Amino acid sequence: MKYDYIIAGAGFAGAVMAERIASVLNKKVLVVDKRNHIGGNAHDYTDENGILVHKYGPHIFHTNDKSVFDYLSNFTTWRKYEHKVISRIEGKDYPIPVNRITINKLYGLELKSGEETKKYLENVKSNIHPVVSSEDIMLNRVGSDLYVKFFEKFTEKIWFEHPRNLTPNVCGRINVRYNDDCRYFTDDYQYMPEKGYNNLVQNLLDNKNIDVRLETEFEKVKPEHYASIIYTGPIDSYFKNIFGRLPYRSIKLVFENHRKEIFQDNSVINFPGNEPYYRITEFKHITGQKSDSTTICREFASKEGERFYPRRTAESLEIYKKYMSAAHNLKDVIFAGMHPSFQYYDIGQVVAQCLNEFSKRF
Ligand code: UDP
Repeated sequence: MKYDYIIAGAGFAGAVMAERIASVLNKKVLVVDKRNHIGGNAHDYTDENGILVHKYGPHIFHTNDKSVFDYLSNFTTWRKYEHKVISRIEGKDYPIPVNRITINKLYGLELKSGEETKKYLENVKSNIHPVVSSEDIMLNRVGSDLYVKFFEKFTEKIWFEHPRNLTPNVCGRINVRYNDDCRYFTDDYQYMPEKGYNNLVQNLLDNKNIDVRLETEFEKVKPEHYASIIYTGPIDSYFKNIFGRLPYRSIKLVFENHRKEIFQDNSVINFPGNEPYYRITEFKHITGQKSDSTTICREFASKEGERFYPRRTAESLEIYKKYMSAAHNLKDVIFAGMHPSFQYYDIGQVVAQCLNEFSKRF
C-alpha cells in the first residue's frame, strides 16, 4: 500500500495534520510514532489506581484562538477548568503569576487597588534595554526581590542554566498582574477535554484514511510506501545531526498514589527553594475526577532523558538557523509542531500553528 503522506509523530501536531489531510483532502495518511502510545507529551492514561494522569507532567489546555477551540470541539466535549498555580516559599503559599495578593502577603503590605500595585511595581522594577534574556524581562516586570524569590532559583533549578543565559520567551511566558486574578492563564478558552487528551487525539486519528503504527521509527519506513513527508520531531534528528545536536531539557516524574481523597490544596504547587523537586501536581484537581485515593507527581529536572523543552540560548539558536535553511530547501517535506520550530509551545499554540500550516500549504 502506498500512502500519500507519512507523518512522523502521533502527538497533537501529527494528529491535527493527519486529520486535515484525511478529511479535507481525502488523502491516505500513515502516522508513525516510536513510542507505544499516541498523544505525544500530552498523553494521559488511567493508572492502576483508576486515576487519570498525564504521563509527561501536567498539560493544561488554553487558547485565545476561537478557531482552535471550535476545531478541537469537533473531537471532544469539555470540562471548564481554569488553572491556578501556587508557589511555596519557606512553607508559605503565594499565587503565581505575581499579583496584588502575592505582593501583599510577601511584604505584609496593604496595596488596595490595581493602581497601587502598579505603582509599587513601577518603583521596584528595572528598566533594562534591550531585553535579551529571561532575567532582563523578569527584572523589568517585577524587580530584583520578586525575581530572585520566584524566578531566578526556580529557573536555574529546572533549566540548569541561569535565566541571564536563556532567551526572554522562557520566563516571559509568566506575566505579572496588578489585580487579584490568580489564574495562571487569562485566555478566553480554558477547558480540559472531558475524557482526556488521549481520547481527543484518538478521535482526531479515527478516520478511514488514517493508519497509525506505534513503536515504529520513521526512518525505518521505506520511502516507496509514501509520497510526501510531514515531520513533527526534533529537526536535528531529521537531518541526522549534521550541524550538531540541539539541546533540550528533560524531566523526571515520580508518581505516587495516596490513600486519601486530596493530597494538596491546589493542582500544581511550585517549589523554588531547596527541595529536590520543582513542582508537585495533583491530577484530580485538573480532571475533576472523584475517588477515595489520589495520584500526584513530583517533577524533577533532568539533564538526561527524553527531549522535552528546547533550550533556547544564543548558541543553540545559531545551530537551529542552519537546520532552518536546510529545511527551507526541502520542498516536499512539511515541518510542523513545536519541535521543528525549536519552540516552547503549548497545545493551543501547536494546534494553531498546524491549522495555519495546513491552510498555507493546501
Ligand atoms: N517560572 C519560574 N517560576 C515559576 C513559574 C515559572 O521561574 O513559579 C519560569 C521557568 O523558567 C519556566 C518558565 O517560567 O520554565 C515558564 O513557565 P511555565 O509554567 O510556562 O512552564 P511549563 O509549565 O510549561 O513547564
